[in-house]
Formats: sequence, structure tokens, C-alpha cells
Amino acid sequence: MTSVMWFRRDLRVSDNKALYHASKEDDLILLFQVNPAQFITGSPSHQAFFASVAHFQQELAKTARLQIMFGDPMECLQQLKEAVPTWDKVFFNRDETGYGASRDAAAQQFFDEQQIEVHAFHDSYLHSAEEVKKSPTEYYKIFTPYYKKWREEIKEMPLKVTLKPENIRKESIFPKYEEQFAELVRDVPSLDNGEQAANARLASFIKEDLADYNKARDFPELDKTSHLSRYLRTGEISIRTIWQMLQQTEATEGRATFEKELCWRDFYNMIYVSFPNQKNEPIQENYRYIEWENNRVFFKRWQEGQTGFPLVDAAMRQLKETGWMHNRLRMITASFLTKDLLIDWRFGEKYFQQMLIDYDPASNIGGWQWAASTGTDAVPYFRIFNPTTQSEKFDPTGKFIRTYVKELANIPDKFIHQPEKMSKTEQKEHGIIIGKDYPLPIVDHKERRKLAIARYEFSKEHYRGNI
Ligand SMILES: Cc1cc2nc3c(=O)[nH]c(=O)nc-3n(C[C@H](O)[C@H](O)[C@H](O)COP(=O)(O)OP(=O)(O)OC[C@H]3O[C@@H](n4cnc5c(N)ncnc54)[C@H](O)[C@@H]3O)c2cc1C
Repeated sequence: MTSVMWFRRDLRVSDNKALYHASKEDDLILLFQVNPAQFITGSPSHQAFFASVAHFQQELAKTARLQIMFGDPMECLQQLKEAVPTWDKVFFNRDETGYGASRDAAAQQFFDEQQIEVHAFHDSYLHSAEEVKKSPTEYYKIFTPYYKKWREEIKEMPLKVTLKPENIRKESIFPKYEEQFAELVRDVPSLDNGEQAANARLASFIKEDLADYNKARDFPELDKTSHLSRYLRTGEISIRTIWQMLQQTEATEGRATFEKELCWRDFYNMIYVSFPNQKNEPIQENYRYIEWENNRVFFKRWQEGQTGFPLVDAAMRQLKETGWMHNRLRMITASFLTKDLLIDWRFGEKYFQQMLIDYDPASNIGGWQWAASTGTDAVPYFRIFNPTTQSEKFDPTGKFIRTYVKELANIPDKFIHQPEKMSKTEQKEHGIIIGKDYPLPIVDHKERRKLAIARYEFSKEHYRGNI
């Protein structure tokens, strides 16, 4: 009898719930299935994911083999069953939302038909969507009461996984797929991948930055956040391990703030379960009638970091250069796209999907709907971020701006947030012509703010049937 451990976004051995159970089986196949339809070839986000898979495959190769399959998931499962007729048990960590959830539902049908015993687990979150609810039939919509309940719930302990290499199939079942995968990842730049790197990141964050996280986390130039998001996305680190490591540290305000961020991650997963269509549709129905301008030139300028608003530009260039963006800047750039440029948040969400090495559908859609004021418990539509004030507050000396907007590197601090305020003589003196070497602001924030508020109000009135 043969068992399959089907890896997804849980690319690790230690503290992997499904693998913990699968590792007790006598004849075990380790599987990763690549569905080309799910990936945008060449996008930094997906390249980063493949780099993690490739690293995991190499690490496992020391004692076992990660079998790779390519194609439609159901066809792959069928092929595997034909190649291994003794297959009668499957282990995996289930997805509660989006593509993963629908794939799991289809796979369940296949397993039922084939009489393959399913062992599915919740592994990715501290609490699955069903665990923290207002009542058995009602999900929370607002973060604070959710957080209160979430805090009270007991968090699971990490699991010690011991692989028995003698029980794991080492010969390649589908060599052609392994060749195909090797080709796919041939030019993929490797990041600091793997469980070891992820655990080292956690340890150094706890040692250096956790205690002051509450004070430093909002300032991009300090770079004091954990950078664990990309490891959480691929599962190179387990959320239970993170939590239990935190519990062994002194109970500081820094730690409490950090734990609350981990709760936001669970919250957005739960929101995605309760609003399965949130990628395509604003959650708040009264904001479904906003008239977006969707100006292509503006969108391109935003993507390229050429808006003339230095902090927005620095942030967008950070994303392009590194595949990651600081949380404060994600809020600022998302607000700028939707409220200042009046571009539909779904374009921004899709762009982040392609670019972010930590892309996570629940958190990304949640973040975008928050910034666009269309989500549940989102920023109110009339509280619009002023990109200049945000810049003065969170990058006071412009150190972050200067790192990514090199053409502004030498201008004095007093002009760094609004370089267009320099006189022609000052521009000459500092070796830059605004409007040529760096753009003039593409919009007038005050005017656009008024316009955005009017568009949101129109949508509300339209929804109520008053227009
Ligand atoms: C528009 C927008 C888009 C976003 N897209 C993503 C995304 O695709 N993937 C992603 O992981 N996060 C996303 N976030 C949330 C947040 O910006 C990132 O999790 C964070 O910047 C990652 O850096 P870090 O690991 O250093 O965070 P830290 O500050 O060290 O936080 C620790 C962990 O807590 C979780 N977390 C922190 N803030 C949030 C939050 N607001 N929502 C959900 N989880 C959070 C993450 O897992 C993060 O790794 C988005 C936020 C916004 C406003």
C-alpha cells in the first residue's frame, strides 16, 4: 500500500502537520505538482516561489526525492494513480481559499472515486477560518473583536517530524516532469531560500528587532520588520514555530504588536473564506459603483515609480528592484493608486500579485480592499492619505527616498518630500531639473482628494437608489 504526501505552500520538513502524519507510512511518495495555468511565467512573484520549490527539492534530495509533476492537477493525479496502482492514502495541508480551495474540492472527488483515503490538515495559519467565529454560523467582520477572541484561543505546539528515508521512494516516477521543472528553474535567481534561512531570519529578528518592533515598524528606512512574509508564503517556516519562539521571549509591547500582525494574517484568511469573491468584487456593496478613471499613463507611471511623489516612487522602485515592499509603503502606494489616481484597486492587486515575492492572495486582496475603503473594516473613504505628509512623517530625512530615487540623492532635506518646490536656481545648484530628470507631481493631491470623495459618495447614493 502506498501513501502520497502532496506539498503545496508548506515547503518544509520541520513542523509540517501533514508530513508529520505521512512520515509514519511505510511506502511514501513526496509530491509537488506544478500547474502552469496557475502561474504567470517569468513574473518575479512566481519565480520566487519556484526558487523555493527548487531549493526544497535539493534539500530533500540528500535523503529522499521530491517527485515533480506538471499540468492540470486532476490529470496529474490520474497519471500518478495509473503509475502507482497501490496508491491508497494521501496527506496534504488543505487550502481554505481561492484557487487552492477549489483544487482541493475537485481532488477530494477524485480521491473518493479512487477510494484513496484523505488525511487533510490545517497548517498555514495559527487559527483556521472556522476556529475563530462570532457564532457557529457567523464570521467576524471587524478586526478588534476577532483579535480579542483570537488571543484567547490556545495555539498549537510545533510538531517534530522524523523522516524515515528508507520508506520514501527515491526513483523518479516521471523523469520527463523533473526535466521540465529543471528547465523552468534553470535561470531563476535563488534567494536566501530554505528552512534554515527562514529560521535564521526569525532568530535574528527576535534577537535584534522584536522588543522595539512597535516603535520602529512604521519607518521604512529603519527596515526593522521581520521579512518573514516570503517564508510564510512558501511555508519555509511554520507559523506554529514562530508563535512558540515568540512565547519564549520577554512579554514586551514589541512582541504584542508583532503577534497582532500575525493575527491580521489569520483575519484576512478568514475574510477570504467568508467573501470568496473578494478578488473580483468590492466587499462593501455600496462601493461597487465607483467611476474609476483607469488612466493607462498614470498606471504606468505608478508602476515605474515616476509619479513625482518621492515616497510613492521610492516604494514602487523598491518593489521592482527587490520584490518586497514595506507595509507602510504598501498602504501609501495603494491609497495613492486608488484615491489620487482613481485607478481601480483590482489593477493594483494584480500588479502586486505579479511582483511580490511574498504574494499571498488573502493578505494582498485584504490590504488592497482596506486601502481602497471597499473592504470590511477598511480605512473610511474620506480619510485619504496625503502622500506628502506621510512622507514627512515616516521618512523624515528622506533616507529611504534617496536609496531608491537616486536622482534625488543630493537635494537638501527640506525639499526631499516636494522637490518641485525648489526654485530653478536651486535645481541648478543641486544638479537636477524637475520635470526633466525627475517628474513634476502627476496630480494635485488636494483636487484629487475632493474628486475621490465625490466618486465614493456618488457610489453610495447610487447604491441606495438616490441617483
Ligand atoms: C496593499 C497591501 C498589500 C499586501 N500584500 C501582501 C501580500 O501579498 N502578502 C503578505 O504576506 N502580506 C501582504 N500585505 C501585508 C503586509 O504589508 C506584509 O505582510 C508585510 O509588509 C510583510 O513584511 P514583514 O514580513 O517584514 O512584516 P512584519 O511587520 O514583520 O509582520 C510579520 C508578519 O505578520 C503578517 N502581517 C503583517 N502585516 C500584515 C497585514 N497588514 N496583513 C496580513 N498579514 C500581515 C505577515 O505574515 C508578516 O510576515 C499587504 C498589505 C497591503 C497594505
